[in-house]
Amino acid sequence: MVQYDALIIGGGPAGLSCALSLLKHGIRPRIIERRPNRANIQKATGVAQGVWYQLAEFGITEKLIGDAFPMRQFVFHDNDRLVAHLHVPPVNGSAPAHLVPQHRLELALEQALADQGVHVDYGCRFESLESKADKAFVTVRINEAETEVIEASWVIAADGGHSDVRTFLGMQFLGHDYPEQWSVAEIRTNLWPAEVQAQLFLQSNGVGLFLSQPSHGTVQGILNARHVSARLKERFPDAVIDYERDFKVSLRRVETSRSGRVWFIGDAAHVQSPVGGQGLNLAIWDGVTLGAALARNDLSVEHRLNKRAKAVLRFTDFDYWMLCTKSPVIRHARNLYWSLAQRFPVMAGWFFRLISGVW
Ligand SMILES: Cc1cc2nc3c(=O)[nH]c(=O)nc-3n(C[C@H](O)[C@H](O)[C@H](O)COP(=O)(O)OP(=O)(O)OC[C@H]3O[C@@H](n4cnc5c(N)ncnc54)[C@H](O)[C@@H]3O)c2cc1C
Repeated sequence: MVQYDALIIGGGPAGLSCALSLLKHGIRPRIIERRPNRANIQKATGVAQGVWYQLAEFGITEKLIGDAFPMRQFVFHDNDRLVAHLHVPPVNGSAPAHLVPQHRLELALEQALADQGVHVDYGCRFESLESKADKAFVTVRINEAETEVIEASWVIAADGGHSDVRTFLGMQFLGHDYPEQWSVAEIRTNLWPAEVQAQLFLQSNGVGLFLSQPSHGTVQGILNARHVSARLKERFPDAVIDYERDFKVSLRRVETSRSGRVWFIGDAAHVQSPVGGQGLNLAIWDGVTLGAALARNDLSVEHRLNKRAKAVLRFTDFDYWMLCTKSPVIRHARNLYWSLAQRFPVMAGWFFRLISGVW
């Protein structure tokens, strides 16, 4: 049986960044992924400044940031009335986030691993594990055929919001589901205003449309209701729909990121509304932070992972309620705040500092 210091389950952003971080600190991990190949499913579009700093150690920032769009202008409407067209205040002298498609980022992370001889084991699915005092034995199924038992000192569950590892261990995923059915779509259009990176269209009935431009000619729309593509077609008559799908949104987290020899990172450890743009960023922060700490045998990282997750979830929940509120009083206060922030961008400094992840 081959032994590893670390076995990572899940080849998404959390797993890939943890693998890079472990490698950087001298630990060669094994990384398995259930899918047969890298799926081209578009999810996140915003990468925070703090994450760009972390990814710089692996040469990723240098490769990607030149083609990413710095978050400089943000437009906010309520019932189709312009509330604010904001020039986003810089954080530490630069944009709080840059837009880049998640798929492109994942490919860059995977390539950086491959350059160092670590390849994602595709078609390899976690099935079960047995934890001992100083190691774990993980059974995986390969190509839905034979099984293999892998011995590892640490197991890192980075297997997403529906984590099989979390379910197998019977860990609670504390929190709640938000009530609405959400939808996301991506379109091609020539009508996006080039100088703007994100637009928000809110309504008094609590339905909000969030738009961003992850790459030239492509717009992603997220709606806290079904049929986002119909809304996109209203706004962009030339829209060609690339895809549309529905999804549920929850606010949940594991009570603590470690259970014996197993660590939980990324969506396996916490899920939240996509509107705060924090899921991918927290997944990468978790991965890089855990990798560096395990290499130093610094188990106090458990506390730091928990603390950050709690803070980020509080922020995204606040964002969710600001987006979905039907209360005329809160809407009025929210709109007043953003129209003042347009005139005095420094007022929005705390918000964009949180978005930047540098705290
Ligand atoms: C519409 C949408 C928009 C979003 N926008 C943003 C945004 O703008 N900014 C932002 O920061 N975040 C955003 N997010 C959230 C972000 O996409 C996720 O938080 C991020 O993908 C989490 O990464 P992860 O690696 O933890 O999990 P995932 O990306 O889900 O990766 C987990 C991997 O584990 C694999 N896996 C699952 N089970 C097993 C198993 N049994 N064995 C082996 N492998 C397994 C899966 O196949 C998958 O590849 C958005 C999400 C959505 C849905």
